[in-house]
Amino acid sequence: VLIKLLICGGGNGAHVLTGLASSRHNVKVNVLSLFADEAERWRKTLGDNHFVVNFREKDGSSQIITSRPNMITNDPSKAVPGCNLIIFTVPAFAHEGYFRAIAPYLEPNTVIVGLPSQPGFQFQCCDLLGIGGRTSAIVSFESLPWACRIGTFGREVQVLGPKDTLACAIIMRGCRPLFPILKTIQYVIGKEPKLTMAANYLSINLLADAVVHPPMMYGTWKDWDGKPVAEKPLFYQGLNEFSANLLDKVSSELVQTAQVIHQKYPDMDMKDVIHLFDWYKLNYKESIKDMSNLRLAMKTCTAYDGLVHPMKETPDKMFVPDFTYRYMTEDIPFGMVVFRGIAELAGVPTPAMDETITWGQKILGKEVLVNGKLTGKDMNLTRAPQRFHFHSLFDLVNLR
Ligand code: NAD
Repeated sequence: VLIKLLICGGGNGAHVLTGLASSRHNVKVNVLSLFADEAERWRKTLGDNHFVVNFREKDGSSQIITSRPNMITNDPSKAVPGCNLIIFTVPAFAHEGYFRAIAPYLEPNTVIVGLPSQPGFQFQCCDLLGIGGRTSAIVSFESLPWACRIGTFGREVQVLGPKDTLACAIIMRGCRPLFPILKTIQYVIGKEPKLTMAANYLSINLLADAVVHPPMMYGTWKDWDGKPVAEKPLFYQGLNEFSANLLDKVSSELVQTAQVIHQKYPDMDMKDVIHLFDWYKLNYKESIKDMSNLRLAMKTCTAYDGLVHPMKETPDKMFVPDFTYRYMTEDIPFGMVVFRGIAELAGVPTPAMDETITWGQKILGKEVLVNGKLTGKDMNLTRAPQRFHFHSLFDLVNLR
C-alpha cells in the first residue's frame, strides 16, 4: 500500500519527520502548518532544493539524508484528502487547531498519531474529529523519538541523537487500517528508536514527562519576592527539599491512581506507571552519582548538568523567571490538570497536585480548580477528560 502521510506541524520535530518520511519508498508526504506564514516560508526557503536531515547516530557517526516532501501548505482542503496516516508533531497547545482543520476532510479508517501525544490527546481527538473521525485509530507516543533542532529553517535539521526505545498506546475504535500500524510508523521513522507498545493509553497519560516541571517551578518560585536575580538558577542540580518532597507526593498520587484503576478494572494493566524515583533507577542508572533518595538522584544526574530555569533577561542584565515557558503554559493545562482529572474520576485525593495547580493557575492568570473541583472558567483551555464529556472511570476504560 502507498502510505499517504500528513504531517501536522512545522518545528524541529516536524522537520525531522518530514525529511525521514519523504526519503522512504512508498510514502507520500504532505506537510500542513497552520502557524502564521510558516508553510509559505518553508515552501519558499526550500524552493527546488533538497531538504536535509543530518542524523547523528548513537555511535557518533553522521548520516546525511536528503529528500523532498510532496507538498507543504497551510490549506487543509489540499493536504488532508486521501491521507491514511496523520502524524501530529507539534506542541500540545497547537493540537486543537489541527484537529479542527483536518476534521472535515478525514476519510474512514485513518490512523491519527501524536508524536508526542502529551496528556489528554485521546480525549481531544475523540471530541473534535466528529463523524469523519469516528473510525480513526488513535496512536499516542510518550515523547519525540529524537533530540533535534532546526539548523536552517525549511532546509536543514539536525538529529542530535535518537532515543533507545519509545512506547506508544493504540486505541482502535473499530478502525480497519490498510497497513500494520506500529510496523508502518517504525518504517517511516527508521530503525531507531525501537517502538514498543504500552499496556494501555491511560498509562501513557499518567507517565508523561510533564509531571516534573510544574512542581519544580512551584517549589522554586513560590516565595519569590519579584526581584530580579543575578544568575539563572540550576533546574535539577538546584532542586530544593520542598520541591523534591512535592515531586515524591505528586508521583505517589499518580501511582495510586493507576492502582485504583487496576483494582476497579483488572483488565487494565497499569504496571508501567511507577514512582518517579523508580523511574530514575530504571532509566538513568548510569548517569546518577548518588541514588540514596529522589532529591539526590535528580541533583546528581549528569544528563541534567548545567540545565537552568527558564528565565527572561531584564534591561540591566539580571533575570526573572519566564512563566510563559512550556514548563508552565503546557505542562499545567496539558499535563498536571489532565492527571488531576483522571485521579478525580478514580476517586483518588490529590493534595500535592492541587497545591501545585492552585499556585500555577494564579501565575498563569487562569482558573481551573475551584474549591477542590475542576470547575473553573478556564477548564476549556485544558485537556482534562471532564472537558471532553468523560465523566466516569467507566468512560475512560471504555475508550478502546
Ligand atoms: P517546536 O518548539 O519546534 O515547535 C514550534 C512549532 O510549533 C512552530 O514551528 C509551529 O509549527 C508551532 N507553533 C508555534 N507557535 C504556534 C502558535 N501560536 N500557533 C500554532 N502553532 C504554533 O517543537 P518541537 O521541538 O518540534 O517539539 C514538539 C514536541 O516534542 C513538543 O511538545 C516538545 O516538548 C517535545 N519534545 C521535543 C524535543 C526536541 O528535541 N525538540 C525532545 C523531546 C520532546
